[in-house]
Amino acid sequence: MKLIESILTKNPCYTAGRKITVKGLMLHSVGCPQPSAQVFVRNWNKASYDRACVHAFIDGNDGTVYQCLSWNHRGWHCGASGNNTHIGVEMCEPGCIKYTGGATFTCSDLATAQAVAKRTYQAAVELFAMLCQKFNLDPLGDGVIVSHKEGCKRGIASNHGDPEHLWTQLGLPYTMDAFRKAVKAAMGGGAAAPSGVSGMKIMGAAVATAEQMKAYIKAKNPKVAQSVLDMVPLYLSEGAAEGVRGDIAFAQSCLETGNFGFAGSAVTLDQNNFCGMGVTANGLKGNSFSTAQLGIRAQVQHLKAYASTEPLKGECIDPRFKYVARGCAEVVEWLGQQENPQGKGWATGAGYGEKIVTILKSILATDGGTAPTAVPFKVRVTATDLRIRTGPGTDTAMTGKFTGAGVFTITEVKDGPGSAKGWGRLKSGAGWIALDFAQKI
Ligand SMILES: [Zn+2]
Repeated sequence: MKLIESILTKNPCYTAGRKITVKGLMLHSVGCPQPSAQVFVRNWNKASYDRACVHAFIDGNDGTVYQCLSWNHRGWHCGASGNNTHIGVEMCEPGCIKYTGGATFTCSDLATAQAVAKRTYQAAVELFAMLCQKFNLDPLGDGVIVSHKEGCKRGIASNHGDPEHLWTQLGLPYTMDAFRKAVKAAMGGGAAAPSGVSGMKIMGAAVATAEQMKAYIKAKNPKVAQSVLDMVPLYLSEGAAEGVRGDIAFAQSCLETGNFGFAGSAVTLDQNNFCGMGVTANGLKGNSFSTAQLGIRAQVQHLKAYASTEPLKGECIDPRFKYVARGCAEVVEWLGQQENPQGKGWATGAGYGEKIVTILKSILATDGGTAPTAVPFKVRVTATDLRIRTGPGTDTAMTGKFTGAGVFTITEVKDGPGSAKGWGRLKSGAGWIALDFAQKI
């Protein structure tokens, strides 16, 4: 997504200077045949233009987002109380339509008009996903993402039919329900990160399987002790017991123990301490636990201390639980004190959390049983709106095409932003898809 800041500093809405607490996002389309966002930016950036002001326009010719107000500025986009809670975004409309009265129009070039509407829809999905992350909004939550038309029905916006009127009359299958789901998918399928942060949440259900974790550790450390392989499922069960992602705990153990080789590690295997707990200075041996299960449980509890302010469900056996500033690291990336906004965290080394994320991504790319992932393989896609990109990552351009539901052959897998399981290249040559949304078969 390309975003250009074009704040409308001369518009009276800007000079009014009111701020809001963002509780939702409202999607509009401009209601006149003008695909160029810059034309709106130019015409609305005047002291005399006192009718309306929005947070962004999406250009119909290339999908560029022009941000016109800071996101928490109170906009004048929906003519009612929605202005107090919702960010307003306008999609530009095709130049080849002609309004004949109200929301009704004729169209002289359907293919071009559809292409414009698709482009703005897709850019809006990306923009709304970014804003949901930023403001910690659930895109599927009631009244969070609404169209102007839906806003009217809810009594928070004036009586307009946008943007659904555009999609319906152009014969496009888009609906606001599909839009909300697409936003959710574009957020990477995970829970929203804390406000203003992108990262991997520590609380939640594990994604990696015990088979993947075992295969990963065998590949990294062929001499790994059988007792280590046997205890791998405990990461998932102990993690689930406290609502902590057990696969994150396991990835952390891989980092802390040198893939359970304990070379150069302060702790030894017989201590059942797989996370360096209590090794607060060089030369210290750290805590010991009577069984592997208790060692893993203490690690999970310690992670929960950082990631959440919720009480433990089980009895606290983590001897250092009480020393943690509760909830200071909701995401893995913040476990490193150098990256943590409060300077708190599990470890002092630079990029500590990022190292754990990297290990977890490798685990997720591991084929349970035989590592690494052998290509080609087949995947099943159930979503109809899984987009195809030109490269492995949400930072690469969209092709504008979608897989549709079906079975597809993947010929190459690469890591990339936006998909924890990596990105798969389609055999057809159409591009890359996020494997988070595809089931290997
Ligand atoms: Zn509107």
